[in-house]
Amino acid sequence: SDMTEPRRIRVLDPRLTNQIAAGEVVERPASVVKELVENAIDAGSRRIELELEAGGSRLIRVRDDGSGIDEEDLPLALSRHATSKIHSLEELEGVASLGFRGEALASIGSVSRLELTSNIDDDPRSGWRVVTEGRLMEPRVSPAPHPRGTSVTVRDLFFNTPARRKFLRTEKTEFGHIEEAFRRQALSRFDIGWVLRHNQKTLHQLKPGDDTVARERRLQALLGKAFLENALHLDLEVGGLRLWGWVGLPTHSRAQADQQYFYVNGRVVRDRLVAHAVRQAYRDVLFHGRHPVFVLYLDVDPTLVDVNVHPTKHEVRFRDSRMVHDFLFSSLHRALGEARAGDHIAPAV
Ligand code: ADP
Ligand code: MG
Repeated sequence: SDMTEPRRIRVLDPRLTNQIAAGEVVERPASVVKELVENAIDAGSRRIELELEAGGSRLIRVRDDGSGIDEEDLPLALSRHATSKIHSLEELEGVASLGFRGEALASIGSVSRLELTSNIDDDPRSGWRVVTEGRLMEPRVSPAPHPRGTSVTVRDLFFNTPARRKFLRTEKTEFGHIEEAFRRQALSRFDIGWVLRHNQKTLHQLKPGDDTVARERRLQALLGKAFLENALHLDLEVGGLRLWGWVGLPTHSRAQADQQYFYVNGRVVRDRLVAHAVRQAYRDVLFHGRHPVFVLYLDVDPTLVDVNVHPTKHEVRFRDSRMVHDFLFSSLHRALGEARAGDHIAPAV
């Protein structure tokens, strides 16, 4: 055909736009796990069970005991830009839920065989199921009994997008990413009970509990005994900012930055400002090229932080980033300094 002839402009089929959006949100099975677990947390669940097969490429199932979804809302849950979490700009600016974009289920459903069963009732004989298969099938709703809560089953991820399926790594690698996603999320909510199963084997069974003993039991189960034995607990509050959690002693540094968990209002965050503040605080006590370990929680007024920065919601923007940076730096610096003064640490140099 004549290349100089302009092609007509057309609005894309919504199911095709879902697949395009899926490119941003669904990188690999672990991203599906993250999104489904965020939804389970947002639904107020007390217990969340994950079941995987073949590194998540064959099966990902997340089952929760949360609020459930109404029958009429089921097909909507799978549509793009459909969300129950925010209904106005004001709500977006103070958003406290993990989700709000209304994109995850639509995206995941466009690149997998998805089944969502839910019940808002305490009667376990009631419930409804909606299924879709790739972008070519309209959601179909039928009755299906389910205890109060929701189960989402995702089979054959990327079955209809071979280019993406090719990028999946080995089962072991993909499961490694899933386990890391699980660890991050299980550390975000001590009050929720968690189960992780892979290929019919139970790998983690974490009881809920929000007291120090229960929290430390979970830290040990997820990060190992050495983490806890070499970490300082801290809890500081200044001017509406609270920082609490555990930071590793400089003597317990690692060659890789692979045990660093930072949460802003319960949301897993990877942030340059935070990374910089931590690095500065450890600068004088850590050998060059070594990385500290930490599990830290920053709680701030939700209106002082913008979470709508990136589709995966891993980044945030603080209204007053200087203040947050200085608060993090001085809190950590002080905690490490006190530990040193208390003679718990041999100086690194
Ligand atoms: P978002 O989380 O951004 O709202 P999603 O596509 O992840 O978008 O989910 C769409 C909607 O489906 C949610 O707003 C919520 O109402 C509903 N939903 C999804 N998963 C669950 C769940 N596990 N329990 C209850 N409701 C859910
Ligand atoms: Mg969501």
